[in-house]
Amino acid sequence: MKDQIFVTRSSMPRLDEYIDEIKDIWDSHWMTNMGTKHQKLQQQLISYLGVPYIDLFTNGHMALELSLQALGFHKGEVITTPFTFASTTHAIVRNGLTPVFCDIDPLTYTIDSSRIESLITDRTVAIVPVHVYGNICDIGEIERIAKKYGLKIIYDAAHAFGETYKGKGIGSFGDVSCFSFHATKVFNTIEGGASAYKDYDFGTKLYRLKNFGIRDSETVDGVGANAKMNEFCAAMGICNLKNIDEEIKKRKTVAERYRMHLENIEGIRLNIIQKDIKSNYAYFPVVFDEKIFGRSRNEVMDKLEESDIFTRKYFYPLTNTFACFHGRFDATDTPIALKLSKRVLTLPIYADLELESVDKICEIILKCKI
Ligand SMILES: *Cc1c(COP(=O)(O)O)cnc(C)c1O
Repeated sequence: MKDQIFVTRSSMPRLDEYIDEIKDIWDSHWMTNMGTKHQKLQQQLISYLGVPYIDLFTNGHMALELSLQALGFHKGEVITTPFTFASTTHAIVRNGLTPVFCDIDPLTYTIDSSRIESLITDRTVAIVPVHVYGNICDIGEIERIAKKYGLKIIYDAAHAFGETYKGKGIGSFGDVSCFSFHATKVFNTIEGGASAYKDYDFGTKLYRLKNFGIRDSETVDGVGANAKMNEFCAAMGICNLKNIDEEIKKRKTVAERYRMHLENIEGIRLNIIQKDIKSNYAYFPVVFDEKIFGRSRNEVMDKLEESDIFTRKYFYPLTNTFACFHGRFDATDTPIALKLSKRVLTLPIYADLELESVDKICEIILKCKI
């Protein structure tokens, strides 16, 4: 067990720091329903993320699902990508909306903005692009299109915590940006998520939807869910936020070590480094071209597992191939995403991953090369 390396390892504060932070919960007996920890974390995140407003949720998925609901769409089409976690597509479908899958850009793996306009119909209501791996979407072009056709933009920013584009917080773009604070993400509240937004009235609707649609003690005017972040999770967030800059810095060192070994190896493509972006080094995806490298992604994955190193095929399979959709979608409509999903492997990356472990991982990978 000790020597196993997983794709990620959850960040945790020192135990005494966490105990200090939760002590007053024992005084107040206020464990959930937007207590002082919730409010404190909310304020801290507005400032850290550089966003106008933010609301906190029990997880990133509910932030996304309820944000779509709060926009008031009950039917229509939403343009999105299949190269993402199940959550993105499910949030759309669970709102009774129809996902329309756009292919991805072969370099950033985010939505190919040049293909969006051809997918717009009179039923299109929104665009849900994903900042995959923390790679930032083509924000300017997506904004131009949304404006031209009167569409809303809801970014799935689950991978983009703390990133900036041209110095501005990534959550300040589009109408809404949804973050995930799941234990496996760059910043965690154990489970948790947030929705950053610009429109105050939208925020009021969203706030009610995370509390059953309750307006006041005698009025319930929304079919809401229960998605409130509790005080213990918020306290974890307050503690983890103190260490976040240090953690991201350490991730950067890990990413640079990988690059040192794997850059310019034939048959391997590393993630691009984007201009004007402050990265959070959330993931380290590597794309294997079997014809050139000599081994497939799956073979490399198996080889690493023999040494107790557990990578993940983020994102395979594509969401438009999921069994739950019963063949409703056709993955050959998104050929670039389909090809990538068969070739990509995300390698272990987290703040405390030792550089010697990175060396070992790279050595095993390079030994696979034929
Ligand atoms: C993690 C993730 C989510 C959902 O977040 P949870 O906090 O786990 O509910 C949504 N979208 C993407 C792309 C994710 O990686």
